[in-house]
Amino acid sequence: MLETAIYLDNNATTPIASEVLEAMAQCARCQHGNPASQHQPGREARTILEAARDQVARLLGATVDSREPDRLIFTSGATEANNLALCGLAGPPPGRVILSAIEHPSIWRVGEFLAQQGFDVQTLPVDCHGLVCLEQFESLLNEQTRLVSIMYANHETGVLQPITEIAALCKRFNVPLHTDAVQVAGKMAIDFTSMGVDALTLSSHKFHGPAGIGGLLLRSGTPLQPMLRGGHQQGALRPGTESIELAVGMHAALDFSIQKNLSGTNPLMVMRDGLEEKLCALLPDVVIHCRGVGRAPHTSQISFLGADRQAVVMALDQAGIAVATGTACESGASEPSRTLLAMGCGPAYLDTAVRLSVGSLNTAQELGVAARRIAAKITHLREVNNRRQPIEAARRGA
Ligand code: PLP
Repeated sequence: MLETAIYLDNNATTPIASEVLEAMAQCARCQHGNPASQHQPGREARTILEAARDQVARLLGATVDSREPDRLIFTSGATEANNLALCGLAGPPPGRVILSAIEHPSIWRVGEFLAQQGFDVQTLPVDCHGLVCLEQFESLLNEQTRLVSIMYANHETGVLQPITEIAALCKRFNVPLHTDAVQVAGKMAIDFTSMGVDALTLSSHKFHGPAGIGGLLLRSGTPLQPMLRGGHQQGALRPGTESIELAVGMHAALDFSIQKNLSGTNPLMVMRDGLEEKLCALLPDVVIHCRGVGRAPHTSQISFLGADRQAVVMALDQAGIAVATGTACESGASEPSRTLLAMGCGPAYLDTAVRLSVGSLNTAQELGVAARRIAAKITHLREVNNRRQPIEAARRGA
């Protein structure tokens, strides 16, 4: 029989918080009109929608009380927001677009598309700690550069990029900067105004909100071409009827996450660090990637040397623990982590790397249980594998 499930795949999605569900249900019960309609039910819907937009933007530190405010464009999620940012900010080809080597597929696959359209798409490498090199970045910036997109926190390792320094360099070259902040929003403070980026992506289901809504936060005056046509909603930049229930849910979720995580010692970090410590104590030869650099507080990528990553995910699933080998958008694919590959990790690390990510609905107690179950499963898998390839040999191939 399946043991109690412990969900440690919060980078893929997070369970919706009951406070969020309640806010959405209350909104839905009111039966508003279409926010684009002129009659009273429509106007009521519009008021709720714009209040949610305003509140989310405020919580992210955007400038909203100004004659030329920053603007939050609601999208269906981060994949759409990233597509809109890249295609909408780069303008028509030719020109240069710079992306980091460790972006989510919703960025790097759009980069491939832009290259097909005639853009000179440059990939900025990362070092062995998963950090982009600022000097190399500066050497890629030139007068032809139309857009830079560098993620805030990596979805596999959690490594935080020096976004403020990157923004300062972009400003010097007058190049717009977009950042994918999906793994940061609700987990760490974001101050859009002082960060200096021109556009920022977020996704509600990554911080205990509903799936189906995300956003692109856009600095005032930043020109953007729409990807969709057919309506005047959201300044015609993203036409289509907005869902007020989803917008209300996204606001409630961001509020919930910020209150939980950002008013003192971050509980996600306490849980993640505790889990890592326990695993190190229980298991020899555990390699925690990027532990020495700044990481988002909830993410841990670990190579369990001597235990195949797919086998680990399956064995832990049987033990009632949900973890991932990497990004959910590529799950099912057997490719190793693009992030670790870009960092120059060898096959012994790549083949055994698993991502564990905690969320606000996890508890310290269940993480203690998880550590023991993980240690037992890894020990078993290693015993089986050791007959074929001793850990020492695996370590040498790392
Ligand atoms: N960007 C990052 C860094 C992500 O981790 C994800 C989801 O895993 C996405 C974008 C895509 O998000 P969504 O599911 O909202 O399209």
